[in-house]
Amino acid sequence: MHRPPIIALLIVPFLATLFGIYQVFTGSIGIAEISLLVVSVILTEYGVTFGYHRMVVHKSFEPRPVLKAIVLALGSMSFQGSVINWASVHTKHHAHSDQDGDPHSPTLSGFIHAHFEWLLEMHDSELESIKEKWGARYAKDPMIAWFSSTFLLWSAVGLILPASIGFLTNGWDGALNWFIWGGLMRIFVTSHVTWSVNSVCHYIGRKMFVTTDHSRNNFLIGLLALGEGWHNNHHAFPASAFHGLRWWQIDLTGLSIRIYERLGLVRKVVRIPAGLLEKRRLESKRTALKVQSLALTKEL
Ligand SMILES: [Zn+2]
Ligand SMILES: [Zn+2]
Repeated sequence: MHRPPIIALLIVPFLATLFGIYQVFTGSIGIAEISLLVVSVILTEYGVTFGYHRMVVHKSFEPRPVLKAIVLALGSMSFQGSVINWASVHTKHHAHSDQDGDPHSPTLSGFIHAHFEWLLEMHDSELESIKEKWGARYAKDPMIAWFSSTFLLWSAVGLILPASIGFLTNGWDGALNWFIWGGLMRIFVTSHVTWSVNSVCHYIGRKMFVTTDHSRNNFLIGLLALGEGWHNNHHAFPASAFHGLRWWQIDLTGLSIRIYERLGLVRKVVRIPAGLLEKRRLESKRTALKVQSLALTKEL
């Protein structure tokens, strides 16, 4: 994507969100618009967490084709780039996490850079070379390639659909309100939630496993990003279909995978054996204690 659309993507949804907050205080919107925002955020974010991330990049399960098509359509409506672009950049992130070459690392280049500045700085030529190196594996899948090439169409659908429903229910006023709440404000919320996984979850939170990066588990982002905030777990076991690895680590995307598995909509779900999890956890605890005592010795 060129720079002007990215700047528009940052500024326009932000201004629309300010306007939406003003509408709440003036009482010019109701429960319908607020519900629309919540539902549309969950649906398109889910397209990214379940579809783009766990299904496409990490191959954590095999979906039925109809489910695969639905989530790829939802992810493509999220305004986070085409599935192949997203998957290529994310694959590079895993290959270089918090090291030279990581496209977004708050410990290397600062929180704001990891949150969204990296998007502004990435030139088309750089994205093309990332796609060339990391994206070829995704382009081989005809459905993924098709959704990637029709990405702009799906982005437009994500804006036109709520506006059309708003028009049918309440004329031009309805069209404008639903465009703002189901389109622009939805983009604002989903963008910042996903970006927080890249920024907050490599900066604030706890590590359950020792990894070669600074990934963290963050309860709030875990909740908002439908399970993706258990990011240290994810870096420790990237292929796992479940990012929440304790009962209290709420992982709504993971919960949906369990349900689909029972319904026969997904198969070959990747699970990390309990023994291996415990072994890694104990090893991590021992390493953390060693580091702590070394630090104490240095202080003395
Ligand atoms: Zn990460
Ligand atoms: Zn990942």
